[in-house]
Amino acid sequence: MLNTDQFQSDQTVAFGAGLRHRAREFASNAGCKRILVLTTPDQSDLGLEVAETLGPMAAGVFCKAAMHTPTGITEEALAHLAEARADSVLAAGGGSTIGLGKALDLRAGVIQIALPTTYAGSECTPILGQTQDGIKTTMSDPKLRPDVVLYDPELVVTLPVAMTVTSALNAMAHAVEGLYAKDRTDATTALALDGLASFQRALPEVIGAPAAVSARQATQEGAWACGTVLGQVGMALHHKLCHTLGGALNLPHAETHAIILPHATAYNRPAAAAELAPLTRMFGHDDPAMGLWEFARSLGAPMALKDLGVAEADLDRIAELATTNPYWNPREITNDGIRALLGRAWGGAAPHA
Ligand code: NAD
Repeated sequence: MLNTDQFQSDQTVAFGAGLRHRAREFASNAGCKRILVLTTPDQSDLGLEVAETLGPMAAGVFCKAAMHTPTGITEEALAHLAEARADSVLAAGGGSTIGLGKALDLRAGVIQIALPTTYAGSECTPILGQTQDGIKTTMSDPKLRPDVVLYDPELVVTLPVAMTVTSALNAMAHAVEGLYAKDRTDATTALALDGLASFQRALPEVIGAPAAVSARQATQEGAWACGTVLGQVGMALHHKLCHTLGGALNLPHAETHAIILPHATAYNRPAAAAELAPLTRMFGHDDPAMGLWEFARSLGAPMALKDLGVAEADLDRIAELATTNPYWNPREITNDGIRALLGRAWGGAAPHA
């Protein structure tokens, strides 16, 4: 079991099968009185189940959470929160649902409980991305990090295999960029390596047996570690590219991360060889980018941007957008270098520096 204490002194984090059934006890200890349960439309059954567990503390279920936290939906949820006189929210879901909980906390100062059902890691971070009129803005405030996080591996058992793989690679990307982040510490590096090792060990087992609860718990420990790294250090090229691709072409979040990760790693390796070196042993390849690429391929991950519907003709524009605003990266960002990277990621070719 990972040691969560040194990173989460102001956050209660627990792991265990069936933990969702103890949500009322954790909520009560956190000081919640009336709780609005949040889910996406797809996960409304889970919302109803959790509300039943909460008994008289449940103040309703709002099941319209959506990707990238649109402010219109937040306003609607805010009205429900006020009408239900709720002082707390319980977000049962992935990054979209947890994002809605943070957006409500920002506006109404609620206690947040998170029951994560993907590996994206938003529950570990003070970061909130919101979308208004198609424009996404991101902010960070320590008070937005959920107060209680309950990792129940039975909740990720339902995650379809394809989503399991892309969501895990999305989480792993946070840890890989954490290894060479300019504000990394020995503790964040150790945590990033722990998280990557958890996924490297447990994911193949989960793919072979998606209902294997102990392997699922190991992947959730990986999600916590990788998400915590995301909350502690700055990200670089990989995230810039994924946000540029996602924003300009409306690509799916986790799939884009899964495809770009080995290519961004290859690009940065010449400038971060020592930081990335532990991955060679972990993924059994003397080139860490190739190790990640082969790991992703072995899990059946999407490997090519063209398979997400990206047109080759868009790549020049994406390279231009991704190199326009300067941002920190271990290796200098050049238009030619990024265009070549995108070409390989588009065609599904092996990563190359
Ligand atoms: P998601 O929350 O958008 O969920 C995707 C779909 O999968 C939804 O339809 C959901 O209902 C379904 N789903 C989720 N868990 C399931 C399960 N266990 N079984 C079956 N279906 C399930 O996906 P996500 O990748 O977790 O979150 C993406 C969003 O989170 C993006 O908006 C991203 O920007 C944000 N994010 C934010 C942070 C942060 O720190 N602020 C970190 C990571 C991601």
